[in-house]
Amino acid sequence: MKNTNKLNINGKRLWSDLMELGRIGQQTTGGVTRTALSAADQQARQWLLEKMKAAGLIVNVDAAMNVIGTLEADEPQTEKIAAMGSHLDTVPSGGMFDGALGVVAALECARTLRENRVNLPWNLEIISFCDEEAAHHAGTVGSRAMMGLLQEGEIHHTKNKRTPTFAQNLEHWGRDPAQIDTARRRPEEFAFFLELHIEQGRRLEAENLRIGVVTAIVGIYRYIVSVPGEPAHAGTTPMSLRKDALVEAAPVFTLLPQWVRERNPEMVGTIGQVSLEPGASNVVPGECRFVGELRSQIAEDMQAVREQLKAYAAQREGWRVETIYEKNSVQLTAPLIDYIIDAAKSEGFPWTRMPSGAGHDAQSMAAFVPTGMIFVPCRNGVSHSPAELIEEDNATEGCQVLLRTLLQLSARGRESLCVSPAVPRHQ
Ligand SMILES: [Zn+2]
Repeated sequence: MKNTNKLNINGKRLWSDLMELGRIGQQTTGGVTRTALSAADQQARQWLLEKMKAAGLIVNVDAAMNVIGTLEADEPQTEKIAAMGSHLDTVPSGGMFDGALGVVAALECARTLRENRVNLPWNLEIISFCDEEAAHHAGTVGSRAMMGLLQEGEIHHTKNKRTPTFAQNLEHWGRDPAQIDTARRRPEEFAFFLELHIEQGRRLEAENLRIGVVTAIVGIYRYIVSVPGEPAHAGTTPMSLRKDALVEAAPVFTLLPQWVRERNPEMVGTIGQVSLEPGASNVVPGECRFVGELRSQIAEDMQAVREQLKAYAAQREGWRVETIYEKNSVQLTAPLIDYIIDAAKSEGFPWTRMPSGAGHDAQSMAAFVPTGMIFVPCRNGVSHSPAELIEEDNATEGCQVLLRTLLQLSARGRESLCVSPAVPRHQ
């Protein structure tokens, strides 16, 4: 076994994997569309399974279609499992690195460890979680299934009537949705979970830093609001006789941001999705459905604005507010934060502590399992866009910090197995 203090991942191989993976679901416009459980997502899953097998991992696809590759320890000192990963699905017209970096880097760590015959005290799982990006209803489906956080019946819901449900798509790929509970794992099985991800913000780049050590992940509350109207011919129905659902809904589009600003200048609120039924230029909208989202580190702030929205809706006939999900912010695990900082220092990369304003699979895990998260910069902070870009060095450095964190936890032996998760602030 080599001196693990000098162990380096293969940055060229990592980058070439990212480029290869980025061609799956690539569009002519340069973006990547690999929405969860689409044909492209399934192709990416097959690609990963082949890479995992080639790396000597034992592979499994669970009932939520999470891909899990295990690097078995020669002589495990514990039954607990170390886990690292992220997601391979993208938003429509997304980028090549959001999620993909965390999965491919975890795989690269496993390959490096195996090639150098490093003996870890635990079995190491590389996990690619299914549907992080909310292709069907709410996001982080795979990681929440694993932690038992799915809401009753949610895999049978969709955010609009044209999209198949998660359950229908599972069936399409020959899986039984009734079995989804078998994806659930006991949190005690895990020693810890680590996720490497692009920052999706501008702070690291602006401050010329290479590594962000995530301290907390923002809370997200998301609602579908349905506003009724009466569909009618847009040419023959006089203005006085219309019940136009869009016009009825419109004041909320400016009121919600106003409620958010008034509550807390650090809070954010967005209406990012609006759909009209029947949705034709010559028909007065018969129904307006929109998704309102609130994000904050402070649960009380999100609850207060939620109540304003619900009170507004309650005063109007036929309005419905349906909760997609309410996830409070989670603190990441203090000892793991320290391990990641030590790893960044020993690699010589400038780093900072920072909260994450985006949701991640690590959020589901952090509720129950000691969890750490590493950010690397992305150009101009752009993500969820074809323009999403990182440098090859960013990928190498993030992966190197991931490996170093793992090795330092490993070197601490049993002590590292005793890190306890942060006290969950939600549920
Ligand atoms: Zn992501």
